[in-house]
Amino acid sequence: MTQSVALSLAIKLIQRQSITPDDGGCQNYIESLLAPLGFVRIGVDTAGITNSIYTRIGELPGILAFAGHTDVVPTGPVENWPQPPFDAIVEYGILHGRGAKDMKGGLACWIAAVAGLCGENTPLPTIQMLITSDEEGDSIDGTVRIVEHMQAAETLPDAVIIGEPSCSEKVGDTIRCGRRGVVHVRMTFHGIQGHSAYPQDTDNAIHRAAPVLTEIAATDWGDPIDGFPATTCQIINIHAGTGATNVVPGECEAFIDIRYNPGNDFEQIKSVIEAACADVSTTLDFDHVAAAFSTPAGPWLDLVCSSIRTVTGLDTILDTGGGTSDGRFLAAAGVPVAELGLTNSTIHQVGECVDIHELETLTAIYTDIISNFRTEK
Ligand SMILES: [Zn+2]
Repeated sequence: MTQSVALSLAIKLIQRQSITPDDGGCQNYIESLLAPLGFVRIGVDTAGITNSIYTRIGELPGILAFAGHTDVVPTGPVENWPQPPFDAIVEYGILHGRGAKDMKGGLACWIAAVAGLCGENTPLPTIQMLITSDEEGDSIDGTVRIVEHMQAAETLPDAVIIGEPSCSEKVGDTIRCGRRGVVHVRMTFHGIQGHSAYPQDTDNAIHRAAPVLTEIAATDWGDPIDGFPATTCQIINIHAGTGATNVVPGECEAFIDIRYNPGNDFEQIKSVIEAACADVSTTLDFDHVAAAFSTPAGPWLDLVCSSIRTVTGLDTILDTGGGTSDGRFLAAAGVPVAELGLTNSTIHQVGECVDIHELETLTAIYTDIISNFRTEK
């Protein structure tokens, strides 16, 4: 069997080792593929992160973008992989390698879809590929910098596909149309250190912290909206004590992680935490790590669902679960977001791999979406 375009591209991308924040030459390689199709690349490299905006001006109105990343997570113990993680070996119809699903496979499918349509001389909308090498890390200088550049240049797309592995069992069974937000709080409870045999001269910081943390963990955040999972709050770390067995701690540190649905917001969450701490001496350090976002029902999500149905026959589930994604940066700029990629088993695991049939299916869905993309402009 001859290799499909998507498979051969996925192999070439996996072989370019690119553990965050390294790009491993992937974005130059993508440029070499896209330039003959009429794409122009703008580099938005920031602080050692490689970021690219590839644009092909289309014959039809509207701008359709694909956003993704070339970086991958570390391999873990290489000796535990059935095949070396960067050799991209295909065996019994399975492509093995780090990034096979997250998300070099998805990148390869998009490029294969675009290349196929350009080869047919079909009139197309303007197409962008927005690629960063900083998604799996802190995402501080990745997609957010690309979005800033596009806002300044007034080149934001009308809709975007995020190529993250969104599906469960079959390609097309699930897309993500929103994500919960993330708030982190570093808390320091202050007391007075002293001898445990003379508690009257101390103020035990653990005793201060415990009831407050219990109250925060039990907070009712209200009913979740729009099918989003409810807001949850998890205490991740508590630390206090000197190591001695007879010293009352004067400080207790705690770290909490809150995942919020769009029915809540950062300021409201902040005021709930501050109110719980009102009667104790604390220092609170809030970090609004990621804003919640959701793409409302409408023509964009309808098109994605209809392309999935055309290719696979599946009625896709519109989901908002899981952690956050780079979609938040585009959504914050007002761009409708749909996350659609390969299935998500084996991602980040030792032995990441993809069934090569998945690559064919996703390429066909992307092709259908690009072919039928229309804008009111
Ligand atoms: Zn990913």
